[in-house]
Amino acid sequence: MGRLFEWRCRDCGAGEGFLCGGGFSDFNPADVVEQAEQGDLGSAMKVLLGNGVPDGWTVQRENSYFECPSCGEVVLGISLKIDDGGNGWLEYHAIPEECPSCGESLRVGECVPSMSEEELSARCEGFVSAGCPKCGGKNVSASYGSWD
Ligand SMILES: [Zn+2]
Ligand SMILES: [Zn+2]
Repeated sequence: MGRLFEWRCRDCGAGEGFLCGGGFSDFNPADVVEQAEQGDLGSAMKVLLGNGVPDGWTVQRENSYFECPSCGEVVLGISLKIDDGGNGWLEYHAIPEECPSCGESLRVGECVPSMSEEELSARCEGFVSAGCPKCGGKNVSASYGSWD
């Protein structure tokens, strides 16, 4: 089960959608192992998961969102929850190296915090009341829902 937050501008078509949380289909996803093996998730994950998910471990993937400190665009990262067989979840966040929108490096200091569901819904509400960030139009609507 996850939550969906979305805003759309009816004047220019701009908009964003955010899916929070994870579905059960995202347990032990094969492409996470692939990404870990290639080092896309950092050196620690390469050691942990690069040879496949160890026996008895559970890896769950969720979306996580980060606000680019430079341009304010929301950048999609991933968050992994790892259970090594009863010792609880290790949580790990991976963020793209560069902002896809402005090209600013996002890994400097690794201090960009992921956005909470409250912050994402507040971002949508903000554009509804302040107008579209792209065209300035007032025909912005927000919608919220659930997915699984
Ligand atoms: Zn617009
Ligand atoms: Zn940016």
